[in-house]
Amino acid sequence: MPDVRIKTPNLDDIFEKWKQRAVRQDRKRMEKQFGTKGALFSLDAISAAEYVKDTLKEAAIYFAVKKTLGAVPKGKDENTVLAPRVGRETYYSFKGAGKINKENWKDEEKVPMYESIQAVSCKTCKGKGYTDDKCKTCKGTGKIEENLMVLVGEEQKKEKKLFSYPCAACYGTGNKREQCKECGGHKNLYKYEILPVPFQTVVTGVPILHSSAQTKYEKEIGEDLHKMIEEVEGIRFNEFKELESKVEASLGYMNKNIKKTISAAASDHKTYQKDKDSQITTQIYLFPMIQMFCETKKGSKFEIYSLGSGNKFMIYSNF
Ligand SMILES: [Zn+2]
Ligand SMILES: [Zn+2]
Repeated sequence: MPDVRIKTPNLDDIFEKWKQRAVRQDRKRMEKQFGTKGALFSLDAISAAEYVKDTLKEAAIYFAVKKTLGAVPKGKDENTVLAPRVGRETYYSFKGAGKINKENWKDEEKVPMYESIQAVSCKTCKGKGYTDDKCKTCKGTGKIEENLMVLVGEEQKKEKKLFSYPCAACYGTGNKREQCKECGGHKNLYKYEILPVPFQTVVTGVPILHSSAQTKYEKEIGEDLHKMIEEVEGIRFNEFKELESKVEASLGYMNKNIKKTISAAASDHKTYQKDKDSQITTQIYLFPMIQMFCETKKGSKFEIYSLGSGNKFMIYSNF
């Protein structure tokens, strides 16, 4: 088994790095807080032992995600409706409108598209709107026949005589036009498509950082790591299961907050794995994090954080 242990930075090294940076950024403030009246200001006189009041050993977890904003939903649906129903739908048009910013879009991601409305000739009536059937009244003969009773001669012999006249239901044609039940007589049905809104796709890298130290620098640290992950040394894992089983051995310490942080990060990681618009682009990094609570002789309190190993770490401070 390879050595998973990571060397936590030495407190003096962290403090030294902070000192050098602080004096570069604001020498006057350093002199005011750490200088001695009448003595020449020197960084050498400022030691961790004197100013660091308390230290916490924490940890941070980092991974990066590539998020595709405005990913176009796939596939299309279509509806075919009777002519009078076309007007019941609300249509959208993006002709000449360019790509749509998904963040401003409050509607459905797939919408009925105006340009897709299309007449489809009715198959049942072959686009005529009616069907020709035999007239039911005259059974297709075009005439109605009746027997007349005729009494013939003195004997009044009963005779039946056929009498026929044109059928009124079909005007004597024998055919009856019926409105086509399929298209309602409108000759066509109408089809329209429900298509994806043409969103603009934006791919952005998102840094994900979870730290067990309650720091206001989480966002800043995350962004820094995103830009210069090579500047900090951590231990990389392919999955959280592995990280969870090795975290204590790796850091050489453990606490409740670290445990909580790991499980929050793991659930976050899982969410991104499931999200179809996201792609996790890095391994999972585990970093030792040291939080130092400091106080100057004038009673001014500040904190210094380190992130990374003894070989490569970054520092943050509110001084
Ligand atoms: Zn029809
Ligand atoms: Zn008829």
